Amino acid sequence: MDQRLKIFNGKLITPSGIVDNGCMLMADGAITAISDRNIDAPDALEIDACGKYVSPGFIDIHVHGGGGHDFMDNTVGAFLAIANTHARYGTTAMLPTTLTSSKEELLETLRIYETADKQNKNGSQFIGMHLEGPYFSVKQCGAQDPRYIRDPDPEEYMEILSNTSVIKRWSAAPELKGAIEFGKYVTSKGVLASIAHTDAIYEEVLIAMENGYSLATHLYSGMSGVTRRNAYRYAGVIESALLLDEMDVEIIADGIHLPPPLLKLVYKIKGADKTALITDAMRAAGMPEGESILGSLKNGLNVIVEDGVAKLPDRSAFAGSVATTNRLVYNMITIAGVPLPEAVKMATATPAKIMKIENKKGTLAAGMDADIVIFDDEINIEMTIVKGRVVYRKTLAYNETAGS
Ligand SMILES: [Zn+2]
Repeated sequence: MDQRLKIFNGKLITPSGIVDNGCMLMADGAITAISDRNIDAPDALEIDACGKYVSPGFIDIHVHGGGGHDFMDNTVGAFLAIANTHARYGTTAMLPTTLTSSKEELLETLRIYETADKQNKNGSQFIGMHLEGPYFSVKQCGAQDPRYIRDPDPEEYMEILSNTSVIKRWSAAPELKGAIEFGKYVTSKGVLASIAHTDAIYEEVLIAMENGYSLATHLYSGMSGVTRRNAYRYAGVIESALLLDEMDVEIIADGIHLPPPLLKLVYKIKGADKTALITDAMRAAGMPEGESILGSLKNGLNVIVEDGVAKLPDRSAFAGSVATTNRLVYNMITIAGVPLPEAVKMATATPAKIMKIENKKGTLAAGMDADIVIFDDEINIEMTIVKGRVVYRKTLAYNETAGS
């Protein structure tokens, strides 16, 4: 049996509110008890939270890299380094995300995932792969390599899905030829179909939703807004996602991809229950600013990281985010004026619900996975716990006298 852990003297962020001076107990990777008073557990290793917040761990459902590595580097070492890097910033669970690439490369990434997942002991937990592409609109490809963009090919996606069970999410443009069948098929396999890099209009989004698509990938980025065709206006994916209550959205809340009024607008319309915060981070997350590469080391694009974002060398466009999950939460509070518990929800319970893992992750309650972060008022991470294992600690000390 694993060492039991006890956290005391913390502000626990629970579904029913913040519990001051709370106490919680963990054993065998799960939360076993939560209380507003001390829990007696003489054999447990004790962690004094020193009055800081104790929160469910952050869940990042869209992340490409960090710590100098990209998942598409296709090495186990890269996967583990990215997981370790983001754990230091509060991510306890993540969906490694691919970029548009060849089928062979995708299959290789899926194989590496399975090996890395078994070796991942000190980082954010991998909770499945997110394939971003290659079935996208060329007009909205953004930083996705147009050479690999194509229409959905049933033979290809059925083969990919038959090879593995680790794909949990797939982003595609629903207006493409074959994209409705694609949405129906992947949904029937338990894969979340998400609308991305798309030029669709409202009428196409409605059909997509009827056929399984339920999430808008990085709202505002790589998608259509209002367009005019022969004097008539059409609502794009942005307006559709804001309007349709059934549609979940995710936002890159780095404060740069979306400026403050858009962060406020999304929160005002969709609310904390329908909006997930994502980093969409590339390899330079958690690294000093300067030159970097977007995408794989082999096929990637040279970019420059400055002012907290990656840009094309001529500075004409952004080329990826370098956000970390704790900054997303901090930004929603300080830039968008969202109350702290709601901002935390957008990085915890909401992404858990979108990925249908809310019975295990995303809230502090007995029976849930012991994925915990402890942070101060500015969301600086003091400690990260993944399934009951302390994978990162800054200053908080264990009570070494406790335990047997
Ligand atoms: Zn992405």
